[in-house]
Amino acid sequence: MSDEPRDEGFDDLLDAIADGEGFYVECANGHGSLPPRLACPQCGSQDLSEEPLPDSGEISTYTVVTVPTPQFEEDAPYVTAVVDFGPVSITGQVRGVDPEDVETGQVVGIGVGETVTREERLLVFEPR
Ligand SMILES: [Zn+2]
Repeated sequence: MSDEPRDEGFDDLLDAIADGEGFYVECANGHGSLPPRLACPQCGSQDLSEEPLPDSGEISTYTVVTVPTPQFEEDAPYVTAVVDFGPVSITGQVRGVDPEDVETGQVVGIGVGETVTREERLLVFEPR
């Protein structure tokens, strides 16, 4: 695991999502996961293909963060959510909605934003 080009691959994914061409990796057994992958994390299959990410997903869990780590200091309060896109679940920050109005089951689209604190790129979800 240690020599996987994890950040580089994640940047590629962010670029693809920013261009509206998000994708995930699916193995021969239909397990979805996020790139970069050399093998399926669920069954170890190396027979992987890239599939287009659905345009929207549903919030499955979320957390309102009011006491952030320094990296997100000026972003607080914000909402971190896990969004179910069917084959894959993706963690990101919910934008464009009041933290207290976020609910599970809410349909959101995916995009790329920047943190207020350090202007680092991150995955963001916005209500559809
Ligand atoms: Zn698999």
